Amino acid sequence: MTDTKHFETHYINGRWIAATRPRQLPVHDSSTEAVMATVPEGTSAEATQAVLAARAAFPGWSALSVEERCAYIDKIVEGLKARRDEMATAIAREVGMPLKLANMIQVGGPIYNWGNAAKVARAFAWEKQVGNSLVVREPIGVAGCITPWNFPLNQITLKVAPALAAGCTVVLKPSEIAPVNALILTEIIHAAGLPPGVFNLVNGLGPEVGEVLATHPEVDMVSFTGSTRAGKRVGELASQTVKRVALELGGKSASVILPGADLAAAVKGTISACMLNSGQTCSAHTRMLVHESQFEAAKALAKEAIAKFSIGPSLADGTKLGPLVSAAQRDRVLGFIAGAVAEGAELVAGSADKPAGFEAGYYVQPSVLAIQEHHTVAKEEIFGPVLVMLAYKDESDALRIANDSIYGLGGGVWGKDDADAIRVARQLRTGQVDINGAPFNSNAPFGGYKQSGNGREGGVYGLEEFLEYKAIQLKA
Ligand code: NAD
Repeated sequence: MTDTKHFETHYINGRWIAATRPRQLPVHDSSTEAVMATVPEGTSAEATQAVLAARAAFPGWSALSVEERCAYIDKIVEGLKARRDEMATAIAREVGMPLKLANMIQVGGPIYNWGNAAKVARAFAWEKQVGNSLVVREPIGVAGCITPWNFPLNQITLKVAPALAAGCTVVLKPSEIAPVNALILTEIIHAAGLPPGVFNLVNGLGPEVGEVLATHPEVDMVSFTGSTRAGKRVGELASQTVKRVALELGGKSASVILPGADLAAAVKGTISACMLNSGQTCSAHTRMLVHESQFEAAKALAKEAIAKFSIGPSLADGTKLGPLVSAAQRDRVLGFIAGAVAEGAELVAGSADKPAGFEAGYYVQPSVLAIQEHHTVAKEEIFGPVLVMLAYKDESDALRIANDSIYGLGGGVWGKDDADAIRVARQLRTGQVDINGAPFNSNAPFGGYKQSGNGREGGVYGLEEFLEYKAIQLKA
């Protein structure tokens, strides 16, 4: 492709440094499969160099006032606003989310969250007196941030913005699958004039660059968002230097529809909460739990609701659902659908085959499966446009099924009224629950119970992740 952009540098100590290894990693436009960009496959030596730059910059950055640090963040917000359309196009291409949605969610969200990190830090109570102690909050130090591809800029933002506001210095390793947004962000950060070494970017693969961040003794904290498999590895490695570990991992969130709920609204709402970003959302509501007496009616409603999600290229007008991010992801998801059917699940809508009429692009037909608890897809995170439906006998059975997961990230409850739904929500072992289709709140803590992780991002909770406590005892 003529428009392939070759990025050949890392960003270390305030400068664009030529990558030492000639091998580049391809980034695919998920709607066309064309190579839209290449990025360096960074080395552990480059990652180490970035860690040492961040370490050297820490005393100066952490000594600045909160207001001085936030003034830099304000400039980053302005830079993001100025390049919003370019950023949205890059993410629509590398991730596959329809452009309009990508502009609103994948870029609008991060613009809000960068600004919010500064707002939260400015309003934060950095110290308080407890008895004869002055309890002060201080930045933890050098933060290593490892991020995934599904909401790439937002996952970066939820780490890097509060880390910088807190006074930490940062080394970022973005996903190798969708790294272009991170490079644009780094250009914006560079233009904002942060002191050298405060923010560093090294592209590359998890087992090489990522593992340096997890192991290096000069990294005080590693903040990781991604799969539970890689998160466990990061946690294991990081334990050797007793660094703080914040993990934001996978999910298998349930939407529990209680018998008194508006069934049509609940099914429609669940499908929307499942299909966002073609189901490649960690907190997607991917298991729909329906009372057995309403199961057939819910299947018909689901079939009707999912028909509205027409697939198409992310840059085309009218596309409701884009392709998946990669060939590997598409094949994995198609494999889950075929496997479920082979195990005896009913395919209510969709297909285990590549959709007809798309020569290129990583498309999967949005699908609904009516399944049993013993089916593989009752437990495994599919990470694609696939909703599974399970019937329950009574409320305690619904709760048992909903909680029968190694994950505990999100969920939803639909009831006859909010009180009915909240009563059930309190019994779900997850970090978030949406009542009757309530919207996302960027200031609420976002994170998981169980193997969905141990961190919390967003608002004041996200800032506190990057802070230490210090108690200074005062003589009476
Ligand atoms: P992934 O685990 O494959 O990769 C995530 C990041 O970790 C990438 O930057 C990758 O290079 C790096 N990595 C991989 N192996 C590593 C290792 N051994 N050491 C250090 N770093 C390593 O995940 P993905 O496919 O990019 O993202 C999808 C997953 O992320 C899903 O499971 C999804 O649920 C999860 N996710 C969770 C949240 C959340 O907030 N809980 C948000 C988004 C995505």
